[in-house]
Amino acid sequence: MTPGLRPLIAGNWKMNTLVGEAVDLARAVAAGAAGSKAELLVCPPFLYVAGLAGLLKESGVAVGAQDCHAKAKGAHTGDVAAAMLKDVGASYVILGHSERRADHGETDAQVKAKAEAAMAAGLTPIVCVGETLAEREAGEAEAVVARQLTGSLPEGFVNAGGVVAYEPVWAIGTGKVPTEADIAALHAAMRAQVGAKTRLLYGGSMKPSNAAAILALPNVDGGLIGGAALVAADFLAIAAAAG
Ligand code: PEP
Repeated sequence: MTPGLRPLIAGNWKMNTLVGEAVDLARAVAAGAAGSKAELLVCPPFLYVAGLAGLLKESGVAVGAQDCHAKAKGAHTGDVAAAMLKDVGASYVILGHSERRADHGETDAQVKAKAEAAMAAGLTPIVCVGETLAEREAGEAEAVVARQLTGSLPEGFVNAGGVVAYEPVWAIGTGKVPTEADIAALHAAMRAQVGAKTRLLYGGSMKPSNAAAILALPNVDGGLIGGAALVAADFLAIAAAAG
């Protein structure tokens, strides 16, 4: 944790849940959210952002999206603009997740443009970075993340309250987690690059059994949670481990 920064526990639901499941999951998270020292955020599929933002309005649980387009509006079939998300009650947007970088070929420059659009619309961007297994084994993890940060974070990101999520690609959904020393070293390097005001989340197979140890590391200011965010009790247990 970093003194002065409120921890953020963010759930990335990815392409999961039918609407009834999404409502049940959101209600269960809200039921356990009272008194949380951490800020709680759920990021459902686009379709449910508006409904869940209404449902969670008084709950203290924020709602975010998993992507937005870099343009404010126009001829971009199938895409969603940041202002639309803001308009229906979202406050955050995850950008540059490794699955989007892999599935959609998103580059650092595109992530940066999306972050600019998010900030212009009044959304807080959560920009994801992280190395592949080959890059870690080659000793390049810190250099890769530094390059991604340089390429993906727009001017004004820090002052806009932008959040960074370090998610080693090889740890996402695999049950594998870097050593605590490796997470601490990577987060210290990110801290040196982005300064004291930016919340730095860890993501990658975080679960109730490892959350307390990871969240206690210096410069880890919360978590971006995938699989465990689909089980309200697990997500809330991780939030409780944040303080
Ligand atoms: C993620 O994809 O953002 C993530 C952290 O997934 P998981 O927790 O399932 O590894």
